[in-house]
Amino acid sequence: MALIIDGKKISDEIKAEIKQRTEKLQEEKSIRPGLAVLLVGDDPASSIYVNSKAKACQALGFHSIVKHVPETTTESEVLQIINEWNNDNNIHGILVQLPLPKHINETRVLLTIKPSKDVDGFHPENVGRLVVGLPGFVSCTPAGIFELLKRSNIDCRGKHAVVVGRSNIVGKPIANILYQKKEFANAIVTICHTAANDLSYYTKQADILIAAVGKPEIIHAEDVKDGVVVVDVGINRIDDANSSKGYKIVGDVHFPSVSQKASAITPVPGGVGPMTIAMLMYNTLLSAEGGLY
Ligand code: NDP
Repeated sequence: MALIIDGKKISDEIKAEIKQRTEKLQEEKSIRPGLAVLLVGDDPASSIYVNSKAKACQALGFHSIVKHVPETTTESEVLQIINEWNNDNNIHGILVQLPLPKHINETRVLLTIKPSKDVDGFHPENVGRLVVGLPGFVSCTPAGIFELLKRSNIDCRGKHAVVVGRSNIVGKPIANILYQKKEFANAIVTICHTAANDLSYYTKQADILIAAVGKPEIIHAEDVKDGVVVVDVGINRIDDANSSKGYKIVGDVHFPSVSQKASAITPVPGGVGPMTIAMLMYNTLLSAEGGLY
């Protein structure tokens, strides 16, 4: 029977630790972690994400700013807002909710965020720090995946980790975390993408399988070996006549069959999902504590 890795429970533990450290920081140094979030336009999904980040800040006692500007805001106006936040000592983390409207260059925006406040870990300086093994901000979903493994006492040392997906926000950073010569990491890593003609050939070799594909339930029991540890990052909406909403959320892994072979597995929902915001809060706390840069 596989261990079901409970992301909600682990993220709650992390948030409780953050709350404690936040209170200590306030008591000892009168510093309150501050997170500023910029939302450009009215994308409904983005608004939901931004609101949940603001709520998490409130629950942890953080200073929170949410700036919502219209779709028509120019790139230079966006850069100006970021520069103000870069120079504001009460703000320790800056986040620009993606995607941005087409007339705004995403790369220029991300490059403008001060790396020491880039709590999303998307700035090339932080990506480079991760690659060469220096302290820096690690993007939140991959940091959350690693935390799930560590807190479930799953040591990746010497194991074959197969990552399916090479996006800048999940696939590449988790691969970079897992091969680092560090405690709980030190894995032998393979990265798969759409050029893999026979994906199953690779996934069957995995001791640790990270699925960050965005395709509903493409990995089945016959694609994995006995005892595999599976982290399912996918969030896919599929039709479900039995649900009052008419749909349900599934991962990239066919949970009912793969969980029969796995030694540990994250469910969707309730696995990686809850970890992302917890790690964003953790990164903001680290920034406020000033220990990273
Ligand atoms: P992207 O679409 O940016 O990347 C998907 C990757 O999967 C690409 O590298 C693509 O390859 C690869 N891929 C797609 N189809 C196949 C296939 N058939 N065989 C092999 N590789 C394939 O997605 P993200 O990384 O942003 O997200 C992945 C999933 O994780 C999504 O479901 C997303 O919703 C979810 N997610 C969940 C988060 C959370 O908090 N839990 C946070 C972020 C994402 P190629 O590069 O060749 O195109």
